[in-house]
Amino acid sequence: MNNSKTKIFGVIGHPIEHSLSPVMHSAVFKEKKINADYFAFDVDEKNLCNAIHGADALKFCGLNVTIPHKISVLKYINKISEEAKLINAVNTIKFDYVENLIIGYNTDGTGAIKAIEKNLNRGLKGKKIFIFGAGGAARAIIFSALQNNAEISIYNRTTEKAILIGNEIKKRLNKDVKIVENFNLKDELNDSDIIINATSVGMFPNVDKSVISKEYIPEGKVVMDIVYNPIETKFLKLAKQKNCKVIDGVDMLVYQGAESLKIWLNLQVDENLIGIMRKAVVEKLIRN
Ligand code: NAP
Repeated sequence: MNNSKTKIFGVIGHPIEHSLSPVMHSAVFKEKKINADYFAFDVDEKNLCNAIHGADALKFCGLNVTIPHKISVLKYINKISEEAKLINAVNTIKFDYVENLIIGYNTDGTGAIKAIEKNLNRGLKGKKIFIFGAGGAARAIIFSALQNNAEISIYNRTTEKAILIGNEIKKRLNKDVKIVENFNLKDELNDSDIIINATSVGMFPNVDKSVISKEYIPEGKVVMDIVYNPIETKFLKLAKQKNCKVIDGVDMLVYQGAESLKIWLNLQVDENLIGIMRKAVVEKLIRN
């Protein structure tokens, strides 16, 4: 039952009607008997400033930020976490009414890393990660994986974008990443431990598309797709046929949500709660 003490959370984006965050977070509040509610808000670019300051004025506890506002929201934040600074994008906002601050974080990269670590049962140190993509999500995963001492190779349809990320990493972290092109794609895939699709290829409605064909997928690797609709993408189906261990995009979604909950509520999210969040998301995806 809502009352004047109910903590209010939400996600802002455009479009937003298919967001899975409300069911995922509401499942946690119900399980943990937390007096809180979570809503999805469709916010246009022109209203972004008003939306952030309005939420602040209404004493919201926190917001998630999704496409297309993860970068433009930086203008309205007055403190930013180290990780969000590196990634140059914010997906989680905490309103701190003691210090009077709007604080920006990015949990996408950590969410992906936690999803991989859970599935591998070990850390990423020294692991060779091959990433398809150089967009916002790829960037978050790349920076977080480097912070966890993994080695990174990047392949992107538009090679120049991968090169730009590589240059930035050299400048900001003094680390090297490999930029992969068509001529060395197969060798680099064979040489990697973990292969991640961080592009939107294979996302609904283009469910018959895979970022690479079956003959390019090496046998027995760890393969992750961050696309979560459908839960089992074409890429993951093909990877299973090559005896790979697969990790779906719902895991990343759930772990990044868990990181947001830690930031907002200092909530320790155990594997039981992760399971409850995953179940809520999967049920919603199946219903849609
Ligand atoms: P983005 O910034 O728009 O980047 C899109 C990426 O996909 C770029 O690298 C782009 O390559 C590539 N791409 C798009 N269409 C392509 C095609 N037909 N062939 C080859 N490459 C193509 O998007 P984003 O925010 O990074 O999101 C990417 C995907 O991750 C989306 O499906 C999103 O839903 C998902 N995601 C999942 C989670 C999760 O928690 N599981 C979190 C965030 C995002 P170019 O540079 O060449 O255009």
